[in-house]
Amino acid sequence: MRVSIDKINQLLNSKKTITITTHTNPDGDAIGSSFALYHYLLKLNHNVKVITPNKHPDFLDWVPGIDNLEIFDDNPEKCNKILDTSDLVFTLDFNDLKRASKLGLAINQFKGITIMIDHHQNPVGYSDIEISEPNITSTSEMIYMFIKMSGKIDKIDKNIATCIYLGMMTDTGSFQYRGVNSTTHDIISSLLTHGVDNNKIYNNVYNSNEISKLKLLSVALKNLELIIDKKTALMHICQNDLIKNNYRKGDSEGIVNYGLTLRGIQFSVIFIEDENEKNKFKISFRSKEDFPCNEFASNFFDGGGHLNAAGGIFTGNLNSAIEYFKKSLNEF
Ligand code: 5GP
Ligand code: MN
Repeated sequence: MRVSIDKINQLLNSKKTITITTHTNPDGDAIGSSFALYHYLLKLNHNVKVITPNKHPDFLDWVPGIDNLEIFDDNPEKCNKILDTSDLVFTLDFNDLKRASKLGLAINQFKGITIMIDHHQNPVGYSDIEISEPNITSTSEMIYMFIKMSGKIDKIDKNIATCIYLGMMTDTGSFQYRGVNSTTHDIISSLLTHGVDNNKIYNNVYNSNEISKLKLLSVALKNLELIIDKKTALMHICQNDLIKNNYRKGDSEGIVNYGLTLRGIQFSVIFIEDENEKNKFKISFRSKEDFPCNEFASNFFDGGGHLNAAGGIFTGNLNSAIEYFKKSLNEF
């Protein structure tokens, strides 16, 4: 980490035009790390933009700075122009350009210097400078470490601290996951000294549901199937359920965790059909203890992630998806 941070700081020694990017369907850590870095680099007097591949869920609308966000899918020409005129591109919270959809293709064409900061396993290796820390629970925590190791801890203010707190909270399941350690809490403690309103952030993220979210939860729970001998819970939500319940981006987030609340269940999976494309499923995997979601996702569903949380995709109808899942589980 030290060598890469020194290289980045050398680049940041003179005023730069910088674009910060993150992954498709950006979550709290993607948005939190991006805007923490955004506010930090603005304070260092750089020109800074954040581009996401597609829209973030509504429960992140309050994030400081998010009004200045550009969304690649909404305006690819403008975003390409921003990239073309940038000196540096940061890619945060992903380690494979495939995870950034069309924005990833654009980054692949980028002629300047790319810097990856990420905490997922097995980086593909597309960037000029890479900071990869799979043992750190969030990219937002890595941004904190980056600022601290750059000797600029005095730059951290309420906005930066709020963004870092957001990413650390969401990527640790509100500080419950196994990767959480004393360092995590030390950092949180220091963030709170900057006036972070932890209760407000929690309520903004978790207690601001639309009724559509609870309706979809009820659909998923109605579909819940247990594969007892594999300690597995399986759910699905189809396209017509999404349409019927006025699905909004982010509504399906977290539903998969309900499977894990069951005693004796170690692995929980949800198949969610694409809102616009039938027979195309996004899958979320979650586990307790040592069941490797990332290995399972990459072996069978062209995905990846972490030990206890991963994602993947499947193309085909629901029945074939479930059949293929059960077969995969038997093979694994
Ligand atoms: P979620 O289920 O919340 O979409 O994703 C859980 C974790 O798995 C996240 O850390 C995310 O980065 C990772 N992940 C989700 N979908 C994919 C995918 O299609 N490919 C890879 N490599 N990782 C994914
Ligand atoms: Mn993350």
